[in-house]
This record gives sequence, structure tokens and C-alpha cells, in this order.
Amino acid sequence: MPVYILDSAGLFRISLINSEIMFTTNEAVNEVVNENEKLIVNSYIKNSKLKVLEPQKDVLKLALNIIGANPKLAEADISIMALALQLGEKYDVTVITDDYELQNALALNNIKCKGIKTIGIKKIIQWTYRCTGCGRYFKRPFEICPYCGSKVRRKPRKIKDKTG
Ligand SMILES: [Zn+2]
Repeated sequence: MPVYILDSAGLFRISLINSEIMFTTNEAVNEVVNENEKLIVNSYIKNSKLKVLEPQKDVLKLALNIIGANPKLAEADISIMALALQLGEKYDVTVITDDYELQNALALNNIKCKGIKTIGIKKIIQWTYRCTGCGRYFKRPFEICPYCGSKVRRKPRKIKDKTG
């Protein structure tokens, strides 16, 4: 069954999304601050067209691990990633988001996503992490190098065309 998971950008334009089953998280709903948009989102929640779910704690942890030390992704993004992982076990999930960083993280984990403003990203960037002190490369993000304690910076490693 195809389901859509909406982040705040998706919630802002919920009336454009034509789907029977839509999910979001409390964190994403909390990012909707405009009164009019709030009213619209709440009406979808009332009609049960939009279901607000809290991702399970263990899945949230997993999402946090996947996203790692990416300061560009907020708590709401992590909750959306977690919900996508959780519902992905049962449903054919597509995340609606305009956030480039989140789209990239989702694509790397084989979770489908669609942009509202954009048509989705065309390229997937894979990141590598390099210590600014000793120069070691890491596959996982670290804030601080475990060898020398210097700052670790993110660098694009490989750019490949997105399939599908
Ligand atoms: Zn180092």
C-alpha cells in the first residue's frame, strides 16, 4: 500500500498532495507556525486523512545513527527519517520533503522521496569524513577525530545518478 510521509514542507502544501494515507510526526507538525496553515493541517488530522505518529524509540535511535552528526538536519528531520524506516517495513513509503539534506539521507537508505517545490534531487552525494588534524578518512560522521581529537569535516566522495 503506498503511503506518504510529510515533513513540514509537505504539511505547508498538504492540499496539493493527493493521497488517501498520509503520515507525519509531532515534531514536523510543531514546525507549522502560521495560523492558516495550522488550521488546514489540523483539519486533515481531524478527518483522519493525516495521521500523526511518534516513531518508536529504537527506530529513532537508528535514524539518529544514520543521520549522524549532520548539523543541517533538525529533530523534525530525524523523526521523519525514523517514521519512514518504521512504516517502510509494512508500506510502500514516499517521503514528501523539499529539504535537500533529508532527501539525500533518505535516498542513501533507499527510501523514496518527492519534493514539492522541486521534483526531487537528481544526484546522490555520498559523503566521506576527513580529520582536519591527522587527515584520516572515515566512512561514518564524527564531530571529533577519535585518533587525534581534531575537528572532522564532511566532503563529497562520489556523485552518482539517482535511479528510478
Ligand atoms: Zn585526526
